[in-house]
Amino acid sequence: MVAKSTEKELKFFLEQEITVLSGVGEKTALLFAKLEIYTIYDLLNHFPRAWIDLRNETEIAKLRIGDLAIIEATPQNIRFFKTKTTKMAVISADLMVGEQKISAMWFNQIFMQTNLQKIRKAIFVGKVEYNKTFGKYISSAKIFYSKEIIPIYPLTAGLGQYSVRKLIKEALRKVKFMDFLSGDDYPSINFAYNQIHYPKDLQSLDIAKNRLALNEMIYISLVKKIENREKESYRSISFPPNFDQIKKNILKLPFNLTNSQRKEIFQICNLLNSTTPMQRLLQGDVGSGKTIVAALTAIQVVQGGKQVFLMAPTEILAKQHYNTFKKILSEKIKIALVTGSKKGDWKNAQIIIGTHALIQESINTQNAGYVIIDEQHRFGTSQRNKLVSGKSGIAPHYLAMSATPIPRSLALIIYGDVSLGRLNELPSGRKKVMTKVFNESERVKVYKFVDTIIQKGEQVFIICPAIEFESDISLDSGGQVYIDLDKKAVANEFNKLKDGYFKHRRLAMLHGKMKPTEKNKILDEFRKGEYDILISTSVIEVGIDIPKASAIIIENADRFGLAQLHQFRGRVGRAGQQAYCFLNDTNDYQNKRLSILEKTFDGYKLANEDLRLRGPGDFIGSRQSGLPDFKMAKFWNIIMLDEAKAIAESIINKKIPLILHYYVERFIKKRNI
Ligand code: ADP
Ligand code: MG
Repeated sequence: MVAKSTEKELKFFLEQEITVLSGVGEKTALLFAKLEIYTIYDLLNHFPRAWIDLRNETEIAKLRIGDLAIIEATPQNIRFFKTKTTKMAVISADLMVGEQKISAMWFNQIFMQTNLQKIRKAIFVGKVEYNKTFGKYISSAKIFYSKEIIPIYPLTAGLGQYSVRKLIKEALRKVKFMDFLSGDDYPSINFAYNQIHYPKDLQSLDIAKNRLALNEMIYISLVKKIENREKESYRSISFPPNFDQIKKNILKLPFNLTNSQRKEIFQICNLLNSTTPMQRLLQGDVGSGKTIVAALTAIQVVQGGKQVFLMAPTEILAKQHYNTFKKILSEKIKIALVTGSKKGDWKNAQIIIGTHALIQESINTQNAGYVIIDEQHRFGTSQRNKLVSGKSGIAPHYLAMSATPIPRSLALIIYGDVSLGRLNELPSGRKKVMTKVFNESERVKVYKFVDTIIQKGEQVFIICPAIEFESDISLDSGGQVYIDLDKKAVANEFNKLKDGYFKHRRLAMLHGKMKPTEKNKILDEFRKGEYDILISTSVIEVGIDIPKASAIIIENADRFGLAQLHQFRGRVGRAGQQAYCFLNDTNDYQNKRLSILEKTFDGYKLANEDLRLRGPGDFIGSRQSGLPDFKMAKFWNIIMLDEAKAIAESIINKKIPLILHYYVERFIKKRNI
């Protein structure tokens, strides 16, 4: 075991501001601050977004436009000229490999001329572009001298790869990380930090990714376990069930409950009967009827003389819940609505339903016996905790509801040891969204069909995938590129269809670059029926409700997880009409994965299938999930989930090492956990 003093020294070292590194003045520090990098620890946790293996040279003859070229050559025929029209200064050189030749050009970088003249041999790395006069050429190549794997970091304007690399290298040289796992069972944390930034080979890079991904899972698991243990030390009031009363209410409903609704109500009623605070996550697809579960279980707490709080993310949802509760429950129960624009009589109410207006100072939640949060991921932890955390040893029972299906093993890491419930069936009579996978040769058929839907006065969504960051390999770009490409994909599709197949229809588009007010305007107009087709990126909210939308076409559907595709199709057929979902498969039926959606309509099953086929990254990476943005999520895997949970368990049962405390503390500070 390491001595405490060494742990303290390490912590002190890591907490130093980056200005202690050579050449970092106030100006540079401000640039790093834009990336939320302040300390040496922050800097070392700024992981590359990609790596380029300079040992893998590309073959000149095989280079296509857009490719990243990696060529070791001696620059020849170095020239300076100005472009005819724009008078831009260009330095060009020929790169020769054997008999093959490609030119490289640098724009407005006159200093490159002398630089190039000094080079005997170097590795040139840059994107292949095309120009009528010169043909294919490498644009603004970066120059390297040793065949290593180089990291590509997320940047911000004014900060180059070179400066980030240099500083990280310096910091790595000076630090030795301390581990909290035994070195015999796991690759060391020190190795992981070194190899993630400067991998000596691809195998070591993989080991590093895995170890750092495992760290993330252990950290979050620890945080949640500690939180939950604290809550367990609290007591709740136990509310004995009155099943007769609940049955009476059920009989008054205009429909029969589904089996899973019955089961869930029974489970929750039993948990409310305990002095251990209930911490339950109820998952169920949109339309599975979660609100009724909330309403019927609330009766028990009202009868026990305590208040029930239900918080929803929007005013519309809060109002909707308020009306549902009013309709279902006996008139004797006093229900108040509290939103930004309306403050009901919450003091005398037994059930208080509202938006985040509920957690404002003036509302006293001391008397809460049961707190329900709808679409819980739409709230931050601190917002949730204002309602949920108890006072003087007493805490309310807590039910979180969510339409985002998250597989059990993942949920147990991310939420800690919560109990999980789910509504796995839709009420009878609800129509399934007819789903079909199609390839390019069937596109016109799909369009034709969709056109008949529009003819009937119904509406259509077309979803284009967000283009992934990693597909952009330009060496000096920051994160903004992502959104630009998003916009491009949507705009291209929009223009293509507007002047093409759907030129007789009214089209609108929606993408990530738009301001919220613009987005809302388009959505409102679409809802009012002013457009037939809305072409959008995948970033639009799951919650949006367009009753007349009856078909959805998802382009490049193979890029999405099954659960996410399932959520997309949940946006059509909201008024109970038959709806259709068309999944464009660019792999031409190679993709068996997608056809699961033609037969399976259980979001939770699909989520589990995703976890099995694609790992946990899909859930965590997608913005819809509302999960914290883990840096290494892409490298999480299923086996690690259980492993991390077990490790966290064993650590928490012993004494948590000081240094681990530090890592965890830094970890939560950076995220909404
Ligand atoms: P969600 O799970 O998406 O929150 P809601 O609770 O809003 O779903 O229910 C969606 C709609 O389905 C509501 O209009 C509700 O009255 C209705 N509903 C709920 N349960 C049933 C059922 N068992 N049979 C028929 N309709 C139901
Ligand atoms: Mg709901």
